[in-house]
Parts: sequence; C-alpha cells; structure tokens
Amino acid sequence: MDAKEIQAKSILTKTSLKNVDFDYSVNPYIGCRFGCVYCYASFMGRFVGKKIRDWGEYVYAKVNAPELLAKEITKLPHRGKGKAICFSIVTDPYQGIEAKYKLTRKCLEVLIDYGYLGDVHILTKSDLLLRNIDIFRSLPNIQLGLTITSSEDKISRYFEKYAPPVSSRLKALRTLNKQGFHTYAFLGPLLPNVLGDAQALEGLFEAVAQTGNKTVFVEYLNAGRYIVERLKTELAGVDETIIQLFQQSKNKEKRIEWDQRVKSLVKKYGLHLGYGETLYHPEMN
Ligand code: SF4
Repeated sequence: MDAKEIQAKSILTKTSLKNVDFDYSVNPYIGCRFGCVYCYASFMGRFVGKKIRDWGEYVYAKVNAPELLAKEITKLPHRGKGKAICFSIVTDPYQGIEAKYKLTRKCLEVLIDYGYLGDVHILTKSDLLLRNIDIFRSLPNIQLGLTITSSEDKISRYFEKYAPPVSSRLKALRTLNKQGFHTYAFLGPLLPNVLGDAQALEGLFEAVAQTGNKTVFVEYLNAGRYIVERLKTELAGVDETIIQLFQQSKNKEKRIEWDQRVKSLVKKYGLHLGYGETLYHPEMN
C-alpha cells in the first residue's frame, strides 16, 4: 500500500454535482483504502499519477487540511449559515489512516472553533466515526451517514473488500441513533445482489430500519465507462450477469421498476426517502 503525506493547495471544494443537498465537500485524503469495486472516485488517481486500476492501493494524507480549512472557511458569508459541507465525496473520511492522522477530526474542530453555522454531512463506511462522538456533539447541525449496500457481510466483503463489514456499520448506526444523533443511511449504489433479488432488497431496508435510522438515500450505480472497466477487472471470472445487472442502472425502464420497489419498501418500513426518489447521476457517466 502506498501511503504518504502531501500538502494540498485547497480543501473546501464547491460541488459540481447536481441534485445533492450540500454545497461544499472536504476530502482530507486522496485515495481510499476501502477500494470498493464500483467506486466512482477512482478517477482521482489522475491527480497523483495513479491509474484507475490502482484505486484502493494508495492513500495520501493532506496533512495541511485543517490549516487550509481554517483559512478557507472564513470566505463563506454569515459563518456558513444556510450552506452545507460534506465529508467526503471522493474518499472515506474515516478509513483506517484517519486513526493515525485524525484529519477529519481536526477539520471538524476547525469548524467548531470558527463558529460555523451551516450543516455538516458525514458519509462513511466505517465505525471509526464513533471515536468522534464528542466532536459531533458540538456541531448541532450535523447529519451522520453510514453507507449500507447489503445486509450481509459476505456481500460487503466481496464488493467493498477493505471496508469494515456491513454488520459493524449497522451497529454504528444503531449506536448513533440510541445517542440521539440525526442519522441517515446511504443505500448506494444498489448492488446486483439486491437489484436481482427482491428478498435481498427488502433485507437491506429491514436491516437499516431496525437500527432506529429513519432517513435513507438510495442511489443507482454510476455505470460510467471507467467504472465498468474497473468492475470487469476486479470481478474477472465472475458470472457476467453481475456486470450486466450493474450496467442495467442505465436502463430507464428498469429504473422505473426498481423505483417502485424502493418506494414501497420505504413505506413499509416507515422510512423517509431523501430527495423523494432513487438518485441517478447521468452526468457521472
Ligand atoms: S468507501 Fe467510498 S470513496 Fe472509498 S472506495 Fe468505497 S465508495 Fe470509494
């Protein structure tokens, strides 16, 4: 694994994504050790001389991230009131290296010290975020999200090979709910095992509802060319129907069929569907 410290030029990035409810993102690392086979962020390698296929094998820590954020946050008018910052969109803010560098934690401390008045969204696949509960308590407008793509560890280990198993993420979601935090579960991308199996799809919603979590965001795979190429390499030798199911997210008729299933499960388990629909980002393709 290639890990090193780097100096970033900036840290608070205005989002170019459509249909999202945050305005800025903070990515304290380049690369992500979790190496999910479907990750759209694998294109980030181009900024550090890495190939798409290297994704998951390098993580660079932006060690000056807290100092940069302390400067850049002052540019937001009204101390950020009415704005939202997401940690993170092209890396996982609580991957293993965070235990050493604590860059996510330090950036959150910067927001607290500054008196930031906007929203903070956290999105991770790691229960490491539980170590920052003390910090979260000082950010009244924080929403804590765990990505849950399956209810079975054998599936999460397969598609998200170095990420904590989904059982530990569900446990973290339960802990955060018990402690009264505003949480959400990000059910995305919808993986072939749930798209091809109605029972598995229901199991996913049921598992999330059992944690006490109320809000879910659901997203289809961004089946862009570079993503599918990496999928084919990562899943070489597996049943071709898995790749085909991944690509079916591009098919509008299939999405209409899955949308209905998602909406009925949301209703059945008393959940709230973020944005009112399953997300699809064709611009990523
Ligand atoms: S955790 Fe997120 S950023 Fe990391 S590899 Fe998986 S999808 Fe990509």
